[in-house]
Amino acid sequence: MGMQAAVQLVYPPQCLSCDALVTTDFGLCARCWRETPFIAGLVCDCCGTPLPGEEGGAPVQCDDCLTIARPWGRGRAVMLYRDNARRLVMALKHGDRLDLARPGAQWLHRAAAPLLQPDTLLAPVPLHWLRLFRRRYNQSALLAAGLARLADLPHCPDLLVRRRNTRSQEGRDREGRFRNLEEAIRVNERRRWQMEGRPVLLVDDVMTSGATLGACADACLAAGAARVDVVVLARVAKDG
Ligand SMILES: [Zn+2]
Ligand SMILES: [Zn+2]
Repeated sequence: MGMQAAVQLVYPPQCLSCDALVTTDFGLCARCWRETPFIAGLVCDCCGTPLPGEEGGAPVQCDDCLTIARPWGRGRAVMLYRDNARRLVMALKHGDRLDLARPGAQWLHRAAAPLLQPDTLLAPVPLHWLRLFRRRYNQSALLAAGLARLADLPHCPDLLVRRRNTRSQEGRDREGRFRNLEEAIRVNERRRWQMEGRPVLLVDDVMTSGATLGACADACLAAGAARVDVVVLARVAKDG
């Protein structure tokens, strides 16, 4: 059975993003697939942003990652946060489109392939419990759980916790975002043993400045993780 047939068995025949019948891989119709900016080719090894140039040489980093200290090692992103990618991420986050978590995990599995090691522990970027209560689910935990199933790796949904309710990151400049997150993310003491001496892969839906992922990576490394890598569904690019 080919990939196409397998996908058609798994997914309903309707496009994830519109009413069209699906004829392409990964649950999107041809038009929505074209309008979704999936990342391919040469990328920043640290954050997954696409870069001009040819794949296959030494790892390269984007200007942001060369300028900002990133506590994590490597990073990948599935798509750029604009156009249909933005709509899909917003629908997963705010629109109760939990069905998007499954194809999202498949896309993450493909993007994260170079980062996965046999003993990697997967963990989502945490939501504060108050927001979790209002929203009822953490979309990043759904994505991490799906990725863990596909990669056959352990997932610890409450490895990290938010200590206080950080106010919304929206409308803040980069410095404000970093300040807002200071001290906010903590390792769950009951879970600490699970990551001691092993690589951790952090999963989030969107990377903007990288401040949240940075705070999470710092917490993991301080608690004894061997290394931390990151994978996100969508990367906000400067020109995007
Ligand atoms: Zn469509
Ligand atoms: Zn980068």
